[in-house]
Amino acid sequence: MIPLQFNVSLKPYNTLAVDVEAKIFCAVSTVDELQQVLQSHRNESLLILGGGSNLVLTSNFDGLVVHNRICGVDVLEETEASVLLQVGAGENWDDLVVACVGRGWFGLENLSWIPGSVGAAPIQNIGAYGVELKDVLVQVETVQLSDLSRHVFTREQCRFDYRDSVFKREQKGRQVIVAVRLRLSKAPRLKLDYGEIRKNAEHWGYDCTNMTPVDVREIIIRTRSEKLPDPAHLPNVGSFFKNPVVSRAQFEKIRSTDPDVVAYQQEDGVKLAAGWLVDQMGFKGKRLGQAKVHDRQALVLVNEGSDSKDVMVLAHQIQKSVRDRWGVELEIEPSIV
Ligand SMILES: Cc1cc2nc3c(=O)[nH]c(=O)nc-3n(C[C@H](O)[C@H](O)[C@H](O)COP(=O)(O)OP(=O)(O)OC[C@H]3O[C@@H](n4cnc5c(N)ncnc54)[C@H](O)[C@@H]3O)c2cc1C
Repeated sequence: MIPLQFNVSLKPYNTLAVDVEAKIFCAVSTVDELQQVLQSHRNESLLILGGGSNLVLTSNFDGLVVHNRICGVDVLEETEASVLLQVGAGENWDDLVVACVGRGWFGLENLSWIPGSVGAAPIQNIGAYGVELKDVLVQVETVQLSDLSRHVFTREQCRFDYRDSVFKREQKGRQVIVAVRLRLSKAPRLKLDYGEIRKNAEHWGYDCTNMTPVDVREIIIRTRSEKLPDPAHLPNVGSFFKNPVVSRAQFEKIRSTDPDVVAYQQEDGVKLAAGWLVDQMGFKGKRLGQAKVHDRQALVLVNEGSDSKDVMVLAHQIQKSVRDRWGVELEIEPSIV
């Protein structure tokens, strides 16, 4: 029998430190345990929890919260060029990155220091500094909630996009991710040309012509720690909004009034830097009750209270002001529960 707990505070389980309760809470360490607990609570609402770093809890959860602790890292195949890994969904993402970089398995170093679990990584196709999970992911293994059967989604079936996948769309709330397979390279292919990475590397005295993935990890961690508040001290969920993609015509209209708009050309339009939009509207450092836009990073909302009400009001104010000024819709990145 899997031990169940009742009326459990979720404050330690979410990086926004929202103090709401789960009616029923349990942790599972194997797929069997997961299937058992789902089978015996078929009529309860369900929340799967990883590291709680990409969700906003808005009220007590009147159902079953399952904390995913299905762990394990197995080498399925190894050649001179690459390694194929099977990783349990409950593994901590950054522990995986550090272990892989340390063993000379490369491809994850730009994704260093992203909080959360391996199992949540495919949901929004985590990405940072020019690399996304989809670049190394081979397949995702799930338990399907309708009949508790096991399924495999190939990379193509995951339909990855910018901070998006089939698990946020058609399969939303229908699958529990239990493992992922990743193919990592034994030959380093460094990616330094995104954001301020190369500039920071030079500034901090690295020789960019002769760098290792270990160096890249160090630079990414240093860059992130200068920019992003640590949730242990300032509760947050990282970027609160996705970078909106607009049509070229809309971009030209925005550029005609705001020539310094920060934007990146895409195949399907132009991606605007959401942080720039929020900053332009004067929100950086702004406080509303117990919520605040971070002083150094306009995309990060910090929660100083025990609920998420003020954070959500502030988020809606930001959305409205960006919509009113440019007609651009800012989509909230974390799941609202
Ligand atoms: C300081 C900070 C920096 C961040 N930086 C980045 C960044 O650079 N790039 C980036 O992409 N993200 C970033 N994030 C967001 C977050 O870390 C990632 O989205 C991460 O993958 C979330 O993992 P988690 O385990 O905490 O997910 P949770 O918050 O626990 O869950 C998120 C959602 O996924 C669902 N879920 C979780 N696990 C499973 C599962 N096994 N099966 C099915 N559904 C599941 C949950 O129900 C919920 O809806 C950042 C967050 C913070 C706090």
